[in-house]
Amino acid sequence: MIFKQVFDKKSSTYTYLIASSIGREALIIDPVLENVEEYIKLLTELDLNLVKVIDTHIHADHITGASKLKEKTKCTTIMGNHTPTDAVEIKVKDSEIIKLDKLEIKALYTPGHTSDSFSFLLNNYLFSGDTLLINGTGRTDFQNGNSKDAYDSIFNKLLKLPDHTLLYPAHDYNGQKVSTIGKEKKFNPRLQVNNVDEYVEIMKNLNLKKPHQIDSNIANNLKLGAI
Ligand code: FE
Repeated sequence: MIFKQVFDKKSSTYTYLIASSIGREALIIDPVLENVEEYIKLLTELDLNLVKVIDTHIHADHITGASKLKEKTKCTTIMGNHTPTDAVEIKVKDSEIIKLDKLEIKALYTPGHTSDSFSFLLNNYLFSGDTLLINGTGRTDFQNGNSKDAYDSIFNKLLKLPDHTLLYPAHDYNGQKVSTIGKEKKFNPRLQVNNVDEYVEIMKNLNLKKPHQIDSNIANNLKLGAI
């Protein structure tokens, strides 16, 4: 398997490129529009054929590069089936398997940050979108976010994965690149709660700023970034 993590400085977004070393098929998770040329360059350098692109959810803080990648490579666009957009070609269900040559990526419905949030599991690599972050969790105060759902997705789904599962989130604001489920269980301050009510209370009191250009980003992302 080929694996690359690409960081977008402006929005602190992590984009993931996964590929099968045998068939040279590649998949990109959460591309950023401004970085599409960089991904294309990387695909060319690695002699890979981009066949699929996934957005974990409709992002509020950057515009997705999904449409532009489709235009350039004819890849298929994928999101979870709770997405509010009809611009995406394939909508996967919870537990559905996405194939990439012999690699299998399992879709996990993990609402809470947004009502359409999905995570994706490939062997012991978990791509958690904004559901579970390193030392944090995705905010739940817009796009039908819901702290109770987030608690359920995190505690009853993601944290049930083996401790050695590698955690690759969609964002990090402190330069951390990877963690594990075991580490997060022990050290993530948001997860040191005794029940759902305590979690909801933490999330209610975050007082975060609204992301820059949230309305236009969401509008553009509902078109998969075809602007
Ligand atoms: Fe998000």
